Amino acid sequence: MARLVMKFGGTSVADIARIRNVAQHVKREVDAGHEVAVVVSAMSGTTNQLVAWARETAPLHDAREYDAIVATGEQVTVGLLAIELQRIGIPARSWLGWQIPIRTDNAHGAARIQDINGDELIRRFGEGQVAVIAGFQGLGPDNRITTLGRGGSDTSAVAIAAAIKADRCDIYTDVDGVYTTDPRIVAKARKLDKISYEEMLEMASLGAKVLQTRSVELAMVYRVRLQVRSSFDAPDAPQGTGAGDIVGTLVCDEEEIVEQQVVSGIAYSKDEAKITLVKVEDRPGVAAKVFGPLADNSINVDMIIQNVSDDGKSTDMTFTVPQAELARAEDVIRKAQAEIGAKEIKTDTNVVKVSIIGIGMRSHAGVAKTMFQTLAAKGINILAITTSEIKVSVLIEAEYTELAVRALHTAYGLDGE
Ligand code: ADP
Ligand code: ASP
Ligand code: MG
Repeated sequence: MARLVMKFGGTSVADIARIRNVAQHVKREVDAGHEVAVVVSAMSGTTNQLVAWARETAPLHDAREYDAIVATGEQVTVGLLAIELQRIGIPARSWLGWQIPIRTDNAHGAARIQDINGDELIRRFGEGQVAVIAGFQGLGPDNRITTLGRGGSDTSAVAIAAAIKADRCDIYTDVDGVYTTDPRIVAKARKLDKISYEEMLEMASLGAKVLQTRSVELAMVYRVRLQVRSSFDAPDAPQGTGAGDIVGTLVCDEEEIVEQQVVSGIAYSKDEAKITLVKVEDRPGVAAKVFGPLADNSINVDMIIQNVSDDGKSTDMTFTVPQAELARAEDVIRKAQAEIGAKEIKTDTNVVKVSIIGIGMRSHAGVAKTMFQTLAAKGINILAITTSEIKVSVLIEAEYTELAVRALHTAYGLDGE
């Protein structure tokens, strides 16, 4: 007997037929004698609609009320799944974040889980009851409802798995695992049997939305065995017999991966915005004047490039921020414009960040060179570059996204059949 967390995303609970299908997956594990906590998202499209209503009412709104609104999507699906499980003879009840409770900090809209009391869930497993838990939501320090940021149900699932010491956390979604890149844009993307926590963390933070970044971080810290698989597989398909069987993709320690590629995956993010300061003075202290106020306003700057100045007096400086923070960043920079001495401030949201990720880069030279040559051969101009130990990212014009990702996928030998 094992203790499992099974998480189902929005497309997996998109209508009643799919909720019935989810119940069959749960039934299979219950029938096998396992203790099960299910975490569900809102029906696909619901959260977007709720966010849109909040914005339509007032573009700048109280973040606590935003959370009160957007957390409702998950309340519907937990109730529906609990009813369906009961209908097919499985004892089950729904749990909202505040009922467990799932305690978070008070960063409304992007809250972090601080503590989960799993005692009552575990006690009820003993009585044969399945817990159906609303993902994405928690309870803040002032007893207000919080949400964990878009895609946050993954994080709810991993945090619950850690709290109840589950043997596994299975993330059921609309693809059958983690691929070398987004299978929706590269038909030749290959499913990975295993991916290391470190690589998955980079993939997620660089744009692969199959798992929320924070969920991978938690899985790594709490050693949660995380598996990504499809909810559209037949619930009664053979599941293998041993604990080591993998259906989908296992996120695990790098030591568990025998054949390591130099580049394991490619990610892209359209959530970038570029700001260029034209003709800032080329003298010590200017960068501090630009990035200091941005940091003071909690704006994350990612890529930075400063051009060589022709005349030794002024230079252009370019950097990127998340698109959602562009308006704020621009505001901060305009206020400091006189002091920085920039002639002009230009912004561009028509850009994409494409990244190659792989642990093998630590010990291989020439990985970035292949990236730059491949993009050059396709006539794609690189606007900015950043690197870390296990990734290289470039900023390019958005219209080249698919061309770039496909070309790099081929160049690093990742193409499947
Ligand atoms: P859910 O609603 O189940 O949480 P998401 O839409 O959040 O599902 O995440 C699944 C999607 O992630 C897939 O449909 C796929 O398009 C996208 N995706 C992006 N990169 C990858 C990747 N490397 N491997 C698998 N899926 C990916
Ligand atoms: N429903 C939330 C969202 O759409 C959480 C999730 O699906 O993970 O972002
Ligand atoms: Mg998701």
